[in-house]
Amino acid sequence: KNEHAASSQRPSEVLDEDARTGLSVEALKKAILNNLFYVQGKYPEIATRNDYYMSLAYAVRDRLLQRWVASVKQYLEGRHRIVSYLSAEYLLGPHLANNLINLGIFKEVEQATQELGINLQWLLDKEVEPGLGNGGLGRLAACYMDSLAALEVPAIGYGIRYQFGIFEQEIRDGWQVEDTDNWLRRGNPWEIARRELNYEVKLGGYVQHYMDRDGKFRSNWIPELTVKGVAYDTPIVGYKVNTTNTLRLWKSEAPKSFDFQSFNSGDYNNAVNQKIICENISKVLYPNDETLSGKILRLQQQYFFVSCSLQDMIGIHLRQGEKIEDFNVTFAVQLNDTHPAIAIAEMMRLLVDEYDLEWVDAWRVTTRSFAYTNHTLLPEALETWDLELFGSVLPRHLELIYEINRRFLDEVTIKVYGNHNKINSLSIIGEGPRKYIKMANLACAGSFAINGVAALHTELLKSTVLKDWYALYPEKFSNKTNGVTPRRWLVLSNPKLTSLISGKIGESWIKHLEELKRLEAFADDPEFQKAWMDVKYEMKKTLAKKILNRTGIKVNPDSLFDVHVKRIHEYKRQHLNILHVIALYNRIKKNPSLEIVPRTFIFAGKAAPGYRMAKLIIKLINSVGEIVNNDPDVMDRLKVVFFPNYNVSNAQVIYPAADLSVQISTAGKEASGTGNMKLSMNGAITIGTLDGANVEIREAVGEENFFLFGLTAEEVAKKKNEGYNPYSYYLENEELKLAIDQIASGYFSHLDDKIFKDLVDNLLYHDPFLVLADFASYVASQEQAAEAFKDKKSWAKMSILNTARMGKFSSDRSIREYCDEIWKVKSVPVHLNGKY
Ligand code: PLP
Repeated sequence: KNEHAASSQRPSEVLDEDARTGLSVEALKKAILNNLFYVQGKYPEIATRNDYYMSLAYAVRDRLLQRWVASVKQYLEGRHRIVSYLSAEYLLGPHLANNLINLGIFKEVEQATQELGINLQWLLDKEVEPGLGNGGLGRLAACYMDSLAALEVPAIGYGIRYQFGIFEQEIRDGWQVEDTDNWLRRGNPWEIARRELNYEVKLGGYVQHYMDRDGKFRSNWIPELTVKGVAYDTPIVGYKVNTTNTLRLWKSEAPKSFDFQSFNSGDYNNAVNQKIICENISKVLYPNDETLSGKILRLQQQYFFVSCSLQDMIGIHLRQGEKIEDFNVTFAVQLNDTHPAIAIAEMMRLLVDEYDLEWVDAWRVTTRSFAYTNHTLLPEALETWDLELFGSVLPRHLELIYEINRRFLDEVTIKVYGNHNKINSLSIIGEGPRKYIKMANLACAGSFAINGVAALHTELLKSTVLKDWYALYPEKFSNKTNGVTPRRWLVLSNPKLTSLISGKIGESWIKHLEELKRLEAFADDPEFQKAWMDVKYEMKKTLAKKILNRTGIKVNPDSLFDVHVKRIHEYKRQHLNILHVIALYNRIKKNPSLEIVPRTFIFAGKAAPGYRMAKLIIKLINSVGEIVNNDPDVMDRLKVVFFPNYNVSNAQVIYPAADLSVQISTAGKEASGTGNMKLSMNGAITIGTLDGANVEIREAVGEENFFLFGLTAEEVAKKKNEGYNPYSYYLENEELKLAIDQIASGYFSHLDDKIFKDLVDNLLYHDPFLVLADFASYVASQEQAAEAFKDKKSWAKMSILNTARMGKFSSDRSIREYCDEIWKVKSVPVHLNGKY
């Protein structure tokens, strides 16, 4: 009664402290019980753990909604420039704990649940993570959403609400087996379906051309199929601010009227088929990382989400009473790789065909709206579309791309004095036995800014893949080194290290990561070193428990944890790592009383289901593990673990427990890496090549706190040019030869000498990623690492200095650079009931 009376006094305001918004332990307890009753329809005695998880999640969501509504209201009332991040992938990880941290209510919720007789950790473990991405690129998008909100920047993330995210990996008999990721099966309390927010997207068919009454040449796209995209919104709250941005993911459905004709004429099957075809578009994430799939459905997915997103942005822009020509004033649109690059042609279609703009005006708006981030130098990852396939899905866009290209090449021809090689390289359309569309070129032509994701990567872009673009448009190019959010990757995943750090330097580093520098003052302090290594030991024990649980392998937390976790790919060279393991094993076999630093080699990562060599590498790791782990001569000095189903939740347990961070890609192949940053931030010391962001990490932490090895990008290119002969390395290095001979002879595979033949032959006769060339250098560097690990004090110092010097690698710094240098957007602090 009283509550009702109170709310009737302030009918339009959300109260500061009620059961849906209050942040006190009491209010939270009440909210959880209310939800248990009113949402889950349960009472405590019969409630399951999932009921409690849902009740808590809805309680947290209520608090988010209050901030979300305030943010949207404030963005729309002012005339604020908005960042629109287009990404086909968001590898978000579980929401609950992250939201508790960002809302600043972790402790309160811990107490509230405890008082209700439930363990918060159980509930956190209940959450199925949305794995809507493959690896680094998708995780970057998630870190950037967190930082945009933390920095109070108005932003919308657009993507696809895949019904099935990245597959779940199981290991059976040493092989990867894929299982579907049915992450929505128990519902998703973090999203709100905006049924009213939907757009139609055309696919296939043909284009009619005609002259209208005013004598204007017009195009009319008659599609074969029309699908509907429905918005599903997830609030993304910033760390200890009110700003709550939107992640808007599109689900594909059949338009309402789809089945009338078929159904009326009795063709029920066709009606249902149409529905299935439409729903298929957002059904599943393509599980390829760094390779192109080239499938029709993939192109449909890309176009589907881009078209919905652009229609949505235009709607937002026009509803503010602005003119279509000023779209680029309202939005800065970032393309996360070329997956959304079709947006450039779609924007032209919308402006020219639907909003009647002249071509030059439309092109001006388009090229002032988009900016493009390149994520790869690997040729197999550069997106191209077979022109015929492209035309069958997007006939109107094919015409528009021809016209974009024609005008663009006219301009370029003058600039390059008719140099045909350059014109061919810059053309958006590739010639060959079959013509194809080059998405990177479309992105470059239609964007006002182009960036790489680490200093070395950007330099290599300028000198190789995008050389001709850089020569023509140097002003478009800049570097934006990737970063990671310290909220998830330190505060959430390593709470003990967080308290230790905050105990020394206060909490402001969580928002200003450069302040970690202040830890340097304690790097030599024996007490601090001990406390630091005690935390590491605790985290290693936690991981050891998980490893035992998942794999049955018992590992020793006193051993050096050598951690190599990331997608399995030849360029990331998990096979170089395993060759080193075999070399150590053979040293022990030769001299069983050998004194070596005990090591636990921890691998984790998924292989693309169609990538044979990567799957073979997983099998090899497990096969070597089986022999090494069970050989009595080894006496537990070496353990090899393949931790299954690498995802965000598992990464959160693995990173804090690492002593050594293995970042050993062939120089010039890894664009940036972000796992390298997370590991170093958690006090692991890197053993790595001069590749991607490793270069900058080494610069930041100091070369004495980094184990460097291997050829440089330049040396790799030179060696390849001179005609690299891996076989000579095999012949020259006894340890390497023995290791490879053992793999080939079936030593690790129950004498099956065929199973690894392709892998061995590939290394001996091709070795495209120079594994054999870098072997000796890697082994030597690992010896230094082992030696360093023996000196606990100096290791502790190196570890502390790694964390202390990682300030640069916060995604807050990356986002600030994007905001200042590319997007030109400013923060808009959001107030809640008059308070910021
Ligand atoms: N997959 C997951 C689950 C991650 O958390 C990360 C971390 O950034 C990656 C992949 C990318 O790892 P890396 O940068 O080491 O390739």
